[in-house]
Amino acid sequence: MKKLGILGGMSWESSAVYYRLLNEGVRARMGGLASARVVMASVEFSEIAAMQAEGRWADAAALLASEARGLEAAGAEAIVLATNTMHKLAPEIAGAVKVPFLHIADALAGAIRTSGAVSPLLLATRFTMVEPFYRDYLREKHGITVRVPDEAGRAEIHRIIYEELCRGIVSSASKARALEIAAAAGGDGIIFGCTEIMLLLSAADFSVPTFDTTALHVAAALDFSLSS
Ligand code: GLU
Repeated sequence: MKKLGILGGMSWESSAVYYRLLNEGVRARMGGLASARVVMASVEFSEIAAMQAEGRWADAAALLASEARGLEAAGAEAIVLATNTMHKLAPEIAGAVKVPFLHIADALAGAIRTSGAVSPLLLATRFTMVEPFYRDYLREKHGITVRVPDEAGRAEIHRIIYEELCRGIVSSASKARALEIAAAAGGDGIIFGCTEIMLLLSAADFSVPTFDTTALHVAAALDFSLSS
């Protein structure tokens, strides 16, 4: 079993789920007492969030590249960046290490293709929904075009992520609001394009397929870890 390097803490609410799902996945595939080989770097999220808000992306890239190098030095055989948003810095982070970088959107694209969805709705932070690093990556590398909520809907989803989910707050009012936003935006699938969205929404809330980037990223990491 290969050792995975989780670059997390963004926020720890979802990193904790990554850790649990990785271990549950190894148990499901191997049985008995088997558990995941993992090393995790968990950053201080208020520092990262301030860098995002102030546009200090070069500082964030330097910090995360250094953490990735630390994971590699600790024996990680692949880097799993446990946040969609910070994949904005995927080139810098992947470029800092020799081991593979398991891109979250590659895991997502495979599931979208399998489902047959052609116009899924992306629910994510403002950065992920608006900036090219995620949408262009899906379109250019995978031929997948996503839709996003209108501006007011994007602002509300972004607010729910940073002011609630990343702080461990899960509210039924916000869930109702997110479902309204998704219904208004339409789409033949729903991408949980922020690793905390699964704390608020689930497949049972929708009549179209859902794509949970947390679970999909974990599944890709397990495939890598358990491949020979
Ligand atoms: N975990 C989130 C994501 O998947 C948002 C937190 C962050 O800014 O990294 O995008």
